[in-house]
Amino acid sequence: MKGNRICQLFNIEKPIVQAGMIWCSGWELASAVSNAGGLGLIGSGSMYPDVLRTHIQKCKAATKKPFGVNVPLLYPEIEKLMEIIVEEGVKIVFTSAGNPKTWTSHLKSKGITVVHVVSAVKFAQKCEEAGVDAIVAEGFEAGGHNGREETTTLVLIPQIRKAVRLPLIAAGGIATGNQMAAAFALGADGVQVGSRFVATPESSAHLNFKTTVINSNEGDTQLTLKQLTPVRLLKNKFFQEVDAAEKRGASKEELSALLGRARAKKGMFEGDLQEGELEIGQVSAMIREIKPAAEVVEEIWSAFKSQVKTMAALEKSLD
Ligand code: NDP
Ligand code: NDP
Repeated sequence: MKGNRICQLFNIEKPIVQAGMIWCSGWELASAVSNAGGLGLIGSGSMYPDVLRTHIQKCKAATKKPFGVNVPLLYPEIEKLMEIIVEEGVKIVFTSAGNPKTWTSHLKSKGITVVHVVSAVKFAQKCEEAGVDAIVAEGFEAGGHNGREETTTLVLIPQIRKAVRLPLIAAGGIATGNQMAAAFALGADGVQVGSRFVATPESSAHLNFKTTVINSNEGDTQLTLKQLTPVRLLKNKFFQEVDAAEKRGASKEELSALLGRARAKKGMFEGDLQEGELEIGQVSAMIREIKPAAEVVEEIWSAFKSQVKTMAALEKSLD
């Protein structure tokens, strides 16, 4: 897509970014999306530093196209992770869940393109001040960690478009070409797609989780744990326990104890559908099939082009 700011920034063919999702997006998924002409991201939040190094090396071997790494800024050993990213010559880093000022100038001094994920206008403005190259604006529909304000993608994107001039990637509730076209109509230059890529053979999620995603329906996810870190989850047994605790007014400490450690791994990587945390977006209700990542990219891309043509044709009927 010549002239598109996201394609130019990353040197890719289609402005479709695969979200860096903990336990779901290792090198296999990232390289498959990059090979299909989008931008694949390795989700490093769930990887120990040496695991990330292995994934970067495998990704480099599996694709000659650009790919990136997503780093949640609250990662415990972040210095080590960043060191590895620089050592391995990663060219693109998406940071999330933290202040973009902390790492942007360091990464940029190493020649890395930096993108930061936000859920509100005030954070987008911070990104501009921090000197990031592009922004991902993620609405309330998104799976996993989410903004407290509950601003939907439809409301968030135009506000951010108005507030900042940076290239803008829309996220949250986008799994089809029509949704991608809607994001462009709101002012986005590209899209980031997460949930759709969970249900691919290349995703490292457990088959139990992938199967649950393709069988889920409208209303099956909800934002919870707003007192700790808000997160959108499928409503399984673990969710019901958290929900009941919140409704009886449990303290932050009680919720933290209930959450415990490694719930996300248990659910998404080990496939424990009852006790694990199952992070997925609202759009899972529209995902019905596990299919290769390249097919997903192609499907979104061709539906996007055809939707853009339909919209252009609409002009003729305006008079
Ligand atoms: P490989 O085929 O090299 O390795 C697969 C590994 O995954 C095996 O070591 C296997 O351990 C382990 N594994 C499989 N199922 C589980 C499970 N339910 N719980 C814990 N470990 C499991 O795959 P990759 O090259 O894709 O991965 C390289 C490394 O990256 C591995 O250590 C893998 O665990 C990790 N990884 C981490 C992800 C993350 O988000 N943190 C995502 C994808 C992979 P065993 O043979 O002993 O069962
Ligand atoms: P927990 O504190 O419950 O558990 C830590 C998990 O991360 C464990 O499963 C652990 O694997 C794994 N891990 C990988 N590297 C490290 C490390 N260096 N030190 C400690 N643990 C590590 O955290 P969560 O599972 O809830 O979250 C993990 C990370 O993912 C966090 O950095 C969080 O910010 C991020 N995250 C990002 C989301 C997003 O949307 N971007 C969504 C949810 C979480 P093991 O069990 O094998 O020890």
